[in-house]
Amino acid sequence: MKTGKNYKFWFATGSQDLYGDSCLANVAEHSKIIVDQMNKSGMLPFEVVWKPTLITNELIRKTFNEANADEECAGVITWMHTFSPAKSWIIGLQEYRKPLLHLHTQFNQEIPYDSIDMDFMNENQSAHGDREYGHIVSRMGIERKVVVGYWNDKNVIAKIGSWMRTAIGVMESSHIRVCRVADNMRNVAVTDGDKVEAQIKFGWEIDAYPVNEITDYVKEVTPGEVSALLDEYYAQYNMILDGLDAAEFKKHVAVQAGIEIGFEKFLEEKNYQAIVTHFGDLGELQQLPGLAIQRLMSKGYGFGGEGDWKTAAMVRLMKIMAAGVKDAKGTSFMEDYTYNLVPGKEGILQAHMLEVCPSIANGKVSVRVNPLSMGDREAPARLVFTSKTGPGVATSLIDLGNRFRLIINAVDCKEVEKPMPKLPVATAFWTPQPSLQIGAEAWILAGGAHHTAFSYDLSVEQMEDWAAAMNIESVIIDNDTNIRTLKNELRWNSIAYR
Ligand code: MN
Repeated sequence: MKTGKNYKFWFATGSQDLYGDSCLANVAEHSKIIVDQMNKSGMLPFEVVWKPTLITNELIRKTFNEANADEECAGVITWMHTFSPAKSWIIGLQEYRKPLLHLHTQFNQEIPYDSIDMDFMNENQSAHGDREYGHIVSRMGIERKVVVGYWNDKNVIAKIGSWMRTAIGVMESSHIRVCRVADNMRNVAVTDGDKVEAQIKFGWEIDAYPVNEITDYVKEVTPGEVSALLDEYYAQYNMILDGLDAAEFKKHVAVQAGIEIGFEKFLEEKNYQAIVTHFGDLGELQQLPGLAIQRLMSKGYGFGGEGDWKTAAMVRLMKIMAAGVKDAKGTSFMEDYTYNLVPGKEGILQAHMLEVCPSIANGKVSVRVNPLSMGDREAPARLVFTSKTGPGVATSLIDLGNRFRLIINAVDCKEVEKPMPKLPVATAFWTPQPSLQIGAEAWILAGGAHHTAFSYDLSVEQMEDWAAAMNIESVIIDNDTNIRTLKNELRWNSIAYR
């Protein structure tokens, strides 16, 4: 999945000229070693670029403005090696508009007990210089990530790498354009919201098209194009005919191939990275887009069902943030469908009527063609699978009328106890943290939707930091959640975010 940019992060070290040239030479040398080692660690998803030591108001201001102007710069990592009087940072920080990380580290891991003197203390005083810097960033109310620890510690580098993905989410949010095929489902509250505010807050462009405008692109797809894509499907997926005649089955699958090609052409031509459909407004489409949408999601497009543009944008955003994760397990649109309430086996069966992304599939993916009452069209072909196990994060962005709230739930995905041969849709099964009872109670109190944007490859912390950077409220539901505390948090947030 391409974002079109080769993002990098700048490493800016703060100091001052009080301690002489040899001290400044050491500062520069040390920060170069740190940057070099971090790049060599193989743990960072993006390159770190060393910048000359910042010691004056003018240079700080210039560097931050260059970071703003550089399209490839996705954020600045700052560290005060010595003391750096923080008034020098005010104007630069005021004018800076990109993600900021404060690495609170020190070049030496251990106090050199035998040799330590005052020169050493002055040169290596981030314990003191970083507090001065942290003060001004807090006073100015600037959102930033603080990472504390020895720079060559794996956990510290991993935290920086994790934050880089959040920063990419911040940078790329304003490049997300959602194509709405028809309007939201009538009478549904949670999938609707203020699109103008979404553009102000997140930079999302959300446009609607009459369904037949995109259907025209489907009609223009040639039989040759459909046939080539069908070959790909038949090579890649297991076909479950369910007693259907093989030729009849293939005709149904071919309809989805036409939709995939036509929709993708439309989205590419008009530069959209996310799409919503609505089963109640299918125009001349022969089937509700199922397999076609599943394939588009696996290519990196965001999707939301029933016109849910907020979830579509979040799925796209989370796919961008997770892009390139080693051994990625997948990111998808999802819906809370039905419960297992048996004690000790509690969980939520996740699915949608069709549209779950095969990136989360565990093993082989199959194609099935089954009737669907929703949509009033012929039986749609869809990809069917069960999903991987392990921890994941489910998010729901809701519009509360005066603000957005991102609800973030840590969930544990499990294997379903038994196969479900009569269920012709892709599924996942998870238990929300801290338990089904408390997790679902917290989700409902927070106003979370039935639709979610879900990923195995992102963490609660990354999504929480993204929300903070976008200046919106977030509510975390995880193993630390306690209902009484959560109720108070919601009460206090309603004042803090008024
Ligand atoms: Mn739905």
